[in-house]
Amino acid sequence: MKVPFVNLGLQYKNLKREILNKFDRLSSKGDYILGEELSKFEDEFAHFCGTKYALGLGNGSDGLSFSLKFFNIGRGDEVILPGNSFVATAWSIVNVGAKPIFVDVLNDLNIDPNAIEKVISKKTKAIIPVHLTGRIADMKRINKIANKYKLKVIEDSAQACGAKYHNQKAGSFGHVASFSLHPLKNLHVHGDGGIVTTNSKKAYEYIKKIRNHGLRDRDNLEKWGYNSRLDNINAGIARIKLRYLNKWNKRVRKIAFKYNTALTNKIIVPTESANCESVYHRYVIISKNRNKLKKYLKENNIDTAINYPIPLHHQEAYRKMYKSNLSLPNVENLSNSILSLPIYNELTDQQVDYVIEKLNFFYK
Ligand SMILES: *Cc1c(COP(=O)(O)O)cnc(C)c1O
Repeated sequence: MKVPFVNLGLQYKNLKREILNKFDRLSSKGDYILGEELSKFEDEFAHFCGTKYALGLGNGSDGLSFSLKFFNIGRGDEVILPGNSFVATAWSIVNVGAKPIFVDVLNDLNIDPNAIEKVISKKTKAIIPVHLTGRIADMKRINKIANKYKLKVIEDSAQACGAKYHNQKAGSFGHVASFSLHPLKNLHVHGDGGIVTTNSKKAYEYIKKIRNHGLRDRDNLEKWGYNSRLDNINAGIARIKLRYLNKWNKRVRKIAFKYNTALTNKIIVPTESANCESVYHRYVIISKNRNKLKKYLKENNIDTAINYPIPLHHQEAYRKMYKSNLSLPNVENLSNSILSLPIYNELTDQQVDYVIEKLNFFYK
């Protein structure tokens, strides 16, 4: 038995006919950039998230960065984010010239709202909560703090497509939110891609321009912008997959529940608070012998990952820039004990049972 960490080829195999038909139809028309298919995907995605607008971009990182630019956040400003995320969250802040202010996380790997208030200064302009592993951060408390100090909230929803919190979807809590359509995300295209959601017409209009060089129309350049558009064929592929996403998320949640009940209590499994639904982009356990366990599972053909082994405030690029010796105890402890088990729609029941059997055997 083999359990790969992801199996993208299998998802393609199941959707092959639909995707090839779409590819053929769009290619025959020569409709590649900023076409009708993209507009349709944007409408459907906004509807899916419960927001007024959505805009397809070249990747999810740009969505975060463009949002910060929209709010005129840059040199001299500070933006608060959790110390445990993918590097792109911090990059988006550095890219606009602002300073990332990392704070500690709770055991659910999401930003600790109590830690946010402690680092707010006159320079603070925004908070970027990350819905890590597909579990929505404590948005009620985060938005309350943001309102109190008049800060902008940009949700990093890259891992949380379809996740719910009090019956509201990821991407609809902040002023703007950014999703990634990278192949490792639960809704992904065949290459790089991203999409932002917002209820703000002004944010929508701004990002719509700067994703396309800053052009107002074909010939008039209103401001300097970027080339960061979701291409039409990938938008078409995303439309196909969006129709299956609820079904896939349901299956993934079922696998998570199975892990939860069957895995030994010698490890800590991810929990959900009431009224929250994670989409389990990652199923992360906390274990005392993480490295040995990872090695043992690998020897038994079970691939795992660590998300993430190096906290952002320990990354070389950050340390060089800010000469920082910041310490975030929980982020650091977790980085030594977390392990992501395989979880995706195409995983079979037999594979799930095999992971459970091997992991429990390790702790016997
Ligand atoms: C994947 C990811 C991103 C970046 O998305 P890209 O589409 O790769 O640019 C940002 N933040 C988090 C938390 C991610 O997981």
